[in-house]
Amino acid sequence: MAKIIMKNAIAELDGDEMTRVLWKVIKEKLLEPFVELKTEYFDLGLKNRDDTDDKVTYDSAASIKRLKVGVKCATITSNAERVKEYNLKQLTRSPNGIIREELDGTVFRTPIFVKNIHCSVSTWEKPIVLGRHAYGDVYKNCELKVDQPGKAELVFTGEDGKEIRKTIQVMKGPGILQGIHNMDCSIESFARCCFSFALDKKIDCWLGTKDTISKIYDGNFKNIFQKIFDEEFKEKFEKAKIEYFYTLIDDAVARIMKSKGGMLWACKNYDGDVMSDMIASACGSLAMMTSILVSPNGEFEYEASHGTVQKHYYRYLKGEKTSTNPVALIFAWTGALAKRAELDNTPELKEFAKKLEKATIDVIESGVMTGDLAQLAEPKAKRIVNSWEFIDEIAAKLK
Ligand code: NAP
Ligand code: MG
Repeated sequence: MAKIIMKNAIAELDGDEMTRVLWKVIKEKLLEPFVELKTEYFDLGLKNRDDTDDKVTYDSAASIKRLKVGVKCATITSNAERVKEYNLKQLTRSPNGIIREELDGTVFRTPIFVKNIHCSVSTWEKPIVLGRHAYGDVYKNCELKVDQPGKAELVFTGEDGKEIRKTIQVMKGPGILQGIHNMDCSIESFARCCFSFALDKKIDCWLGTKDTISKIYDGNFKNIFQKIFDEEFKEKFEKAKIEYFYTLIDDAVARIMKSKGGMLWACKNYDGDVMSDMIASACGSLAMMTSILVSPNGEFEYEASHGTVQKHYYRYLKGEKTSTNPVALIFAWTGALAKRAELDNTPELKEFAKKLEKATIDVIESGVMTGDLAQLAEPKAKRIVNSWEFIDEIAAKLK
């Protein structure tokens, strides 16, 4: 069988632990037999990020910008334990944080529905797409722990030398402080990314923030969304018969739980981090969710939304063939290849990506699945398999 040719390359960002192990198997069994893979490879494994002082991460982001499409494996965000475990020089920065900052994008996460896994929120008939702002807030914070009473202030010094000063708190004892920021231009592109995505998919767009408490900070998100909507999207939404809806974040959560689903839910960075895990879990497993970072310049990075599945990796190192679910990793590859195909106008590659997704879903719907899904399947799973067997089943279907 002749392999499918790729016109242009995609950026390939390898990662850590169990997802790194599966990454290799997916390439060997599901991609390389069918496609003449063209990638620019970057090893974002923790040790290499440390060795290169994060240069490899910045290089990979530059590659995504150049090639327009990237696919990323899950990576360890280092902490004190990891520094010891991997014998690191330093606490490296979160690679996702760096890439999101470089691309200034919005992360869209969508659960993957299969017939025999029923959502634990019974009213959700359609997937809820979560649009997560990927810049600023607590992910680019500045923190301080102080060990005595004192006055905490917020100070801004303008380029023209003008100073603005506000008292945060006169502290009567030791405590903690945090400074966060966001940029109008980033919120504007977040709003445009979300409205364009909703329009493209013909679904409503919701935004929730806490502007009653955070009048200036969260209020800015609300105001910018409204302005962009009124000026650029209102008529297009009316024509497409879809709506933009703003409400308080707590009200949004309450309404989402009673909704039928099928909307784009735009969330600030932290809300999106937390709520996307909730939606994924309600829909079965963290591994049943796609995650795409879309930049305002039309660059796309596809990844899994779960982590490196550390506990499974330690069992793998002891010789166990774990039943780790590779679906989100497979869909990261199919998403990236389909986008490459769309940009290059190569329908054969697009068709292949579709077939691989269908083969994956067909295997699960035939009753063969990994342990995480078997706990939830209705009717009951016919066979619970390990990751290698599961990938072999998909490969057989694909052939
Ligand atoms: P995790 O890798 O998401 O796994 C947490 C738990 O969720 C697992 O122990 C497992 O539960 C279940 N799970 C997640 N993915 C699964 C899959 N594909 N198949 C089956 N079960 C799955 O989170 P973590 O273990 O807390 O974090 C490990 C590392 O990942 C951390 O160093 C963190 O920094 C990093 N991380 C990276 C990203 C990213 O690169 N996008 C995102 C989040 C975290 P059971 O143990 O019950 O089976
Ligand atoms: Mg998270």
